Order: sequence, then C-alpha cells, then structure tokens
Amino acid sequence: MAYDNNNIFARILRGEIPCDKVYEDPHVLAFRDIRPHAKTHVLVIPKGPYESLEEFSAKASDAEIVAFHRAIPKITAAIGVSVTGYRAIANSGADSHQEVPHYHLHLLGGQRLGPLLSLPH
Ligand code: 5GP
Repeated sequence: MAYDNNNIFARILRGEIPCDKVYEDPHVLAFRDIRPHAKTHVLVIPKGPYESLEEFSAKASDAEIVAFHRAIPKITAAIGVSVTGYRAIANSGADSHQEVPHYHLHLLGGQRLGPLLSLPH
C-alpha cells in the first residue's frame, strides 16, 4: 500500500497541525500524544514516509535508523522516564489497531503501567 501523504503525522511534520513537541532533529520528531494512555505518553516518529515498523526497518537509510534509535535516550531523559522506566510500543497493521499509518513508537510512563496486554474476549 502506498504511503498516505495526508495522514495526521505527515500533516504535523509539514507544520499544518500543531503538536506538543518534546524533541526534534533532522530525522526524528517526538511529541505528546493528544489522547494520553498514561501520565506520560509521547510518540516518536521518523520524518521519512514510512508506514510501519517493518517498512521503516526495510527501507529507511542507515542514517535514519541510527538517528531514530540514538534519539530515544535523549527523549526519555527529556520526558523524565529514564530512571523510573517506561514501555515502548509500536502498533503495526489491523490486528494491532494501528490508527495512524506513519510509523511511530509510543513511549508510556510516569506511572505503573500494569500488564503488557489486555486482550479482548
Ligand atoms: P496507533 O493506534 O496508530 O498506534 O496510535 C496513534 C496515536 O496517535 C493515538 O494514541 C492517538 O491518540 C494519537 N494521535 C492521533 N491524532 C493525533 C494528533 O493529531 N496529535 C497527536 N499529538 N496525537 C494524535
């Protein structure tokens, strides 16, 4: 499936929609989730047009992949979860309920998070 240039994160990257930014570098943007699922809930996205974790991993340049991972400790320090801990989640595709088709890593923390998954019956 082709990347949707009008998905909400593409629009945030183009500056068409505001975001509560916590970190930015030439390859990476991190901002607070608009409907947080924990006291601290930040989304980390590559600036390139990748729909999912596997597409990012397969198609992004080495520089983009390195930048994404090197940004994580800077972001966790900036949002204050490096010491207390956090959970990183990447939804991909229908079974995961991925809502926005631009790869993003959820960083959740600031409180005890409970079990890893709550599956529907
Ligand atoms: P997904 O379900 O795709 O893994 O997660 C998408 C996330 O993006 C959701 O947690 C949702 O709250 C967040 N989100 C959707 N639209 C916006 C927006 O316009 N701004 C921000 N900051 N977050 C958004």
